[in-house]
Amino acid sequence: MAAAAPAIDPRLGADALSFVNSRHQLYIDGKFTASSNGKTFAVYNPATGEEICQVPEADHVDVDRAVHAARRAFDSGPWPAMLPSKRGQLMQRLAELLEQHTDEFAELESLDNGKPVSVARVADVPLAVDLFRYMSGWSTKTLGSTIPLSAGNDYLSYTVREPIGVVAQIIPWNFPLLMAAWKLGPALATGCTVILKLAEQTPLTGLRLAQLIDQAGFPPGVVNVLTGFGEPCGAPLAAHDRVDKVAFTGSTEVGKLIAKTATGNLKKVTLELGGKSPAIIFPDADMDAAIAGAASAIFFNQGQCCCAGSRLFAHESVFDKVIDGMSNIAAKIKIGPGLDPATELGPLVSEEQFDRVTGFLKSGKDQGAKVNAGGNRSGDRGYFVQPTVLSDVQPGMKVVDEEIFGPVVVAQSFATDADLDRLAAQANDTIYGLAASIWTRDISAAHKMARRIKAGTVWVNCHNVFDAALPFGGYKQSGWGREMGAEVLNNYTEVKAVTVKL
Ligand code: ADP
Repeated sequence: MAAAAPAIDPRLGADALSFVNSRHQLYIDGKFTASSNGKTFAVYNPATGEEICQVPEADHVDVDRAVHAARRAFDSGPWPAMLPSKRGQLMQRLAELLEQHTDEFAELESLDNGKPVSVARVADVPLAVDLFRYMSGWSTKTLGSTIPLSAGNDYLSYTVREPIGVVAQIIPWNFPLLMAAWKLGPALATGCTVILKLAEQTPLTGLRLAQLIDQAGFPPGVVNVLTGFGEPCGAPLAAHDRVDKVAFTGSTEVGKLIAKTATGNLKKVTLELGGKSPAIIFPDADMDAAIAGAASAIFFNQGQCCCAGSRLFAHESVFDKVIDGMSNIAAKIKIGPGLDPATELGPLVSEEQFDRVTGFLKSGKDQGAKVNAGGNRSGDRGYFVQPTVLSDVQPGMKVVDEEIFGPVVVAQSFATDADLDRLAAQANDTIYGLAASIWTRDISAAHKMARRIKAGTVWVNCHNVFDAALPFGGYKQSGWGREMGAEVLNNYTEVKAVTVKL
């Protein structure tokens, strides 16, 4: 344990403070426990760079313990055999408990990740609650079908959907609680058991959620929660041959490693990875809405969204107006610690992320980008970066080609004569295919463009609209499979075809 006294933000409420100051433990087989090696690691406040607490550092031994617990809960425990309605009730209970602790979770998320507490309170926590509620309904609705056979009328054939089994879930730091909910919801609804590995940068809300899972009364081993680093903890989990599926959200780089390591036992794999999503503004758009929308598309969550609108395309007749409008918004955004209720843009999550994003800013400038707003760090303490609007950019520049994962948009114009095919080719000129937004009043152009975009989500006259009922995921190198909606259930179930000779 580090000797340094934790420096905690005085705006933290009593419940969140008491949790931060408590002893943090892994959750394995229904018990809170230290890591087998006794090691811990520090969690930092990104607004100050100071340590806030220590959490256990799980390694392959803890992974093994957790997998065995999840295996037992699946193979001989009550979970897959439990009445579906009872599983749904437990999920409802979890949603209720989470909702009751909205303020505490919002504060913990803000302290740990840096995001504005005002946003966490109305977005991260309620969306996680909704997700558990929505998915609880599916526990009674994972349906099969009856299928007429051409082989003859004297057969009865039907399909059933069965839970895949033990699922390893590895999540990132940008929406720590919400990503935990996206992952746990469909697994629990379908009767899978889980080992959830939290991101090392942001373990607090996941650890607190483990306590609520325990309080809600889920049987031991159904959900196991680990804190630890990628290689010593995430990698053995993804590779484990007694795990039936791995679901990962994070960088495309690590996603590729996970896909490789999963081949050992050919476990099923779903991946929700990076993006470089276009926001496309047509000249007939409602300009005020489009400008505000495109700004929010990139600056929301400090730009740390896999579906951030990080490449802006605006028609040449409105390009200057759009750049001026977004730059004005960027200049006025209130930057500060997440726990300040007035803050609109918090710090980036970590020093590593800060170095990465400021490195991209330098590269953009070095390669000739024009800085219309921002372009630098903000202040001299913590990991704050100014919301930034770059123009004079083209494909081939790092800031255009690569995912920055910070509040930095690169803006390009398109010509009056650009037909939709050409514009779509520009928008699709990326290895990613997660999302896009189209801003126009012309409904034909909107739908024609939506068809041409190679991405899992297309928003028209909006961006970053999420719902538990809407599938979310990527084309191309943005991933495999979908999160949320009815779609995700296919990724947590196997289909069995049963045929009876009558
Ligand atoms: P980012 O680059 O956005 O920090 P990562 O993809 O590195 O995101 O991390 C997302 C999650 O993947 C984290 O929980 C991290 O610990 C985990 N992780 C990192 N490396 C590996 C790995 N080699 N195998 C399994 N999980 C990993």
